[in-house]
Amino acid sequence: MQRKITLLGSTGSIGDSTLDVVARHPEDFSVYALTAHRNGGKLVGQCLQFMPEVAVVGDAQTAAQVESALRAAGSHTRVMHGKQALVDVSQDGGCDTVVAAIVGAAGLAPTLAAARAGKRILLANKEALVMSGAIFLNAVREHNATLLPVDSEHNAIFQCLPREGATITHGGVSKLILTASGGPFRTREPRTLIDVTPEQACKHPNWSMGRKISVDSATMMNKGLEVIEAHWLFGMPGERIDVLIHPQSVIHSMVSYADGSVLAQLGNPDMRTPIAHALAFPARVDSGVAPLDLAAIATLSFEKPDYERFPCLALAMSALAAGGVASAALNAANEVAVEAFLARRIRFTAIAQTVEAVLNECQNHRADSLEDVLDADAAARRAAQKFIDHAGAGITVG
Ligand code: NAD
Ligand code: MG
Repeated sequence: MQRKITLLGSTGSIGDSTLDVVARHPEDFSVYALTAHRNGGKLVGQCLQFMPEVAVVGDAQTAAQVESALRAAGSHTRVMHGKQALVDVSQDGGCDTVVAAIVGAAGLAPTLAAARAGKRILLANKEALVMSGAIFLNAVREHNATLLPVDSEHNAIFQCLPREGATITHGGVSKLILTASGGPFRTREPRTLIDVTPEQACKHPNWSMGRKISVDSATMMNKGLEVIEAHWLFGMPGERIDVLIHPQSVIHSMVSYADGSVLAQLGNPDMRTPIAHALAFPARVDSGVAPLDLAAIATLSFEKPDYERFPCLALAMSALAAGGVASAALNAANEVAVEAFLARRIRFTAIAQTVEAVLNECQNHRADSLEDVLDADAAARRAAQKFIDHAGAGITVG
């Protein structure tokens, strides 16, 4: 059976890797819809290569440009725009698989729509799950959707856990061990972190990724979000999820069992491996990734995470422990702070300070409905913006 794919966020880093795998297996996968925010030029090129039925962009002006370029090239791809269009292509009967690769909270509504439409969801957009954990998983269960993790750590754990089909069981599992590279500042002198630039923060030693997740990797907020993601995906309490620094990024994560066994998944740090795994699951297909050469790598090393150097990791753990809408507030404050850092308005170290200030102020309450989550998200964004606008030296740049 050929799978028909809606790829949300096709012009990003995960989008590129997904299309690379799809192009290797035209008999197994076809593209129903591609979506981009503003990068219309890149989307046009992807549409001409993959000939989707629908293309979605963020606004009317970009839509008009994409449409005229496609028509000029003889393409019949329908062009839509706006948030509702993202929801529409995620629940449409024309696709059976939705790859959720939009960055940030913007991906929540279409990913949730895919769950409610019972799709097979390949989840890269961890922020959506961090915000809405219980609500999202209820929708998956209620509508018989399938959730397959693309995030490399979670994909590794999924491969190492006992399961029946795509359903995880916990037989004999004692702990999940999430590995982390430690990012570009693992060994940098902590007092110099205040001077880090966006260029330095986005230069990850092992992975090539979008700018937001690159900054999250540099603060290790990414690992914090991943602990929360693992909690929801695998139904594991935070106390049974460990973070382990592993600078080579060869072991993508591990599962520890009651009998002392530890299962790990290894591979070169290339997102095409987890993407190909999730696309073809339970089959295995070629991803284009070079075979792992352990003799050439020679050494795999490990160390404990440093919570003082990386306060964002501790903040995420405490948001998970607090429950309710705290994780949504953490995520929203982080998105605002990372954007301000990338725009050179605040310092690198101010990302954690902003998130901490918002969490301290946040009125934590239950996350029973999507409305609860979206209200908390909006309140945290306002609080983060206020903190940044009123901040003084040490927070702002200049
Ligand atoms: P990216 O910035 O490279 O791409 C983001 C995509 O989302 C682009 O196609 C962009 O057009 C689209 N987009 C951005 N804002 C949007 C909005 N408001 N509305 C609609 N579309 C919007 O990001 P990425 O690195 O590909 O990451 C995507 C997601 O996957 C993130 O949630 C990230 O945490 C997760 N992820 C990425 C990697 C990686 O290696 N890049 C690994 C694991 C998980
Ligand atoms: Mg990851």
